Amino acid sequence: MPWNPEETLSRPEMAKLQSERLQKVCERVYSRVPFYKSKFDEKKIKPSDIKNIQDVVKLPFTKKSDLRENYPYGLFAEPLDNIVRIHASSGTTGKPTVVAYNRNDINLWAEVMARTFTCAGVTNKDVVQNAYGYGLFTGGLGAHYGAERVGAAVIPISGGNTQKQIMLLQDFGSTVLTSTPSFALYIYDVACEMKINLDTIKLKVGLFGAEPWTEEMRHEIEERLRIKAIDIYGLSEIIGPGVSSECIEAQSGLHFNEDHFYPEIINPETGEQLPYGQEGELVITSMSREAMPLIRYRTGDITNLNPEKCKCGRTTVRMRRVRGRADDMLIIRGVNVFPSQVESVLLRTKDIAPHYIIEVNRKGRMDEMNVRVEVTTECMDKLAAKVLTTDLKQFAQEEEDLIKIKRDIQKNVKDIIGVNTEVTLVPPNAIQRSEGKAKRVIDNRPK
Ligand SMILES: [Zn+2]
Repeated sequence: MPWNPEETLSRPEMAKLQSERLQKVCERVYSRVPFYKSKFDEKKIKPSDIKNIQDVVKLPFTKKSDLRENYPYGLFAEPLDNIVRIHASSGTTGKPTVVAYNRNDINLWAEVMARTFTCAGVTNKDVVQNAYGYGLFTGGLGAHYGAERVGAAVIPISGGNTQKQIMLLQDFGSTVLTSTPSFALYIYDVACEMKINLDTIKLKVGLFGAEPWTEEMRHEIEERLRIKAIDIYGLSEIIGPGVSSECIEAQSGLHFNEDHFYPEIINPETGEQLPYGQEGELVITSMSREAMPLIRYRTGDITNLNPEKCKCGRTTVRMRRVRGRADDMLIIRGVNVFPSQVESVLLRTKDIAPHYIIEVNRKGRMDEMNVRVEVTTECMDKLAAKVLTTDLKQFAQEEEDLIKIKRDIQKNVKDIIGVNTEVTLVPPNAIQRSEGKAKRVIDNRPK
């Protein structure tokens, strides 16, 4: 059963609710936020011109740079007296992006995160080990309030402390893990090193987000940790986690909380709205937010939307797994490359572990991509056994096997993504692990 009745509205009912909420939020920002008043005036739009949800295309976009330019409190639609929480996300340069919540926003956040946990099959019988970071980052507290709202027992361990995470997984009988996907794999690696018997861990499902990941990565996590891995999505500018989430029944696209956060897909070049099914940049209007609603916020995330009813019974549109942020996209010799595409190729290759770094350098005028990736422990063991027990001729044969792995990766990257790449195979654990968001790309090119 979905958490809220709004998750099963018919399309016309949903459109009616969205229309009402869009009108309301336009009035709110126009009368309270000078930035929006001047944006609306520039476009010669009044809140009264917004009659239904289709009118959203008349509204101006909001960009990340608008948040920076109005740093820290310029976009608040409530006086500071009514603000009860402030979060911030670190930018790559300069000042962070600041977001604010009043009491109703905090309640809304707990509700949409309760939907997310319910989507993943989590109930009051569960023990949730919350390994998202607590702090200015929205992941920790967002997941915390949602898990409490469904009545689960929350362990607020935060990120890091990998050995302690494993101890609590065993001793506290955690059934749910919330973390970045890369940290979940790291916990697994450390558990293997510690020779932990996975039967002593009761984990059944993980809610993973905060960094782009692939279907292949999902299979790795599900097989290794023996759990269901659920993709969740959110961003601090809109509310934090709780914007959309996969259901455990279908694991096929993320149910969008579209009654509160209106999603559109646009052509990132022209800004034109695209129909359902077409890929483009996700744009969100946070219609129910009060302290800091944003109009048509450009997320930079590339995805599409699917309005078909899901087998879980929810009718909300589903967003395809994010292919990557437009910001993360690398342009290599004129070809657009998402790190997630490289990850897909790597994880489809036999003997390769899900740990990699993509390095881009410029030699003269040419961009060069080098993928450093680990071989599996099993692969190393096979090799080592040969070296110890057989003659040199056979070892050379094994090296040929490594060359074959490299060639396979190079060929698939070329065929599927369209660029040439160098591949460096490294032994297990040679790539530094992350206890939060994984850093997958090193771009050494001059800016
Ligand atoms: Zn579903």
